[in-house]
Amino acid sequence: MAGGKEANSTAPSGLLAIFAHPDDESYGAGGVMALAAAAGNKVWVLCATNGDQGGRPGEMDVDHALDPEIRRAELACACEALGIAEPIFLGYRDSGMEGWGAPEGSLSLAPKAEVVERIVAVIRRLRPAVIVTFDPGGVYGHPDHTACSATATAAYEEAAAEPGGPIALYHQALPRSYIAAMRAGMEEERRRGGDDKPPSEDDLRQQEAFEKLARPDDEITTVVPIGSVLERKIAALACHDSQMRNRPWDDPEARAQMERMFGTETFVRVDPPLPVGEKEDRFAGLEWGGK
Ligand SMILES: [Zn+2]
Repeated sequence: MAGGKEANSTAPSGLLAIFAHPDDESYGAGGVMALAAAAGNKVWVLCATNGDQGGRPGEMDVDHALDPEIRRAELACACEALGIAEPIFLGYRDSGMEGWGAPEGSLSLAPKAEVVERIVAVIRRLRPAVIVTFDPGGVYGHPDHTACSATATAAYEEAAAEPGGPIALYHQALPRSYIAAMRAGMEEERRRGGDDKPPSEDDLRQQEAFEKLARPDDEITTVVPIGSVLERKIAALACHDSQMRNRPWDDPEARAQMERMFGTETFVRVDPPLPVGEKEDRFAGLEWGGK
């Protein structure tokens, strides 16, 4: 084999998204994944938990247990909608929201070194060029999100130091300017859904965390317009039926609101860092068809 070809065959390629629960991938990076796949890149999702505490969101005093097979199947459905490979699971249990008490075997209780090594093993096997995960606050501070960010980031650092390792790391993050729009959107959705109950304690806590953990707008380096694949993202979100509180996907008003909320995806490029003040509108390290 010629030297050049050999070197080529060791070059990493494609995008690996590492998130905590089935549905995190579609909210945060579904558009980017669909765009990358449509441009011919290999795209995978590594999901750290099986989402088995995802039952009845927003209710403190009920059983949150959900058959993990339901959420695994929902993620497989979402991956198909996004046009990417079948999902890969680490199989940790869902820790549940802050204050619920994480069950044994959950991601937030797992030793960090163990989780990092398991993620590194997946990176070595798939050899992606680019990795995306949550930013350190995990968007709204869910214990599995923050654990996922910390372990995936450490795994990137370890794998990136190896020959043929990944070359870019992105953190999915929301800019502060987005949060007010999101809050208005959620109110609107609640109202239109005929839900006149006040927001639950979990909802309020989550909203507060969103506001506290959003990044100042100038820290966001990468704003990706995803309008051309919005259909795929919405189809992927709709796959996560157990989490969606009966969203009216077909209602034109709801649809317009989704377009406002989901028209762009926002990230911080962690590695290699962008020069201060510079912005980009797509991920580095992937093939974009020469555009
Ligand atoms: Zn999540």
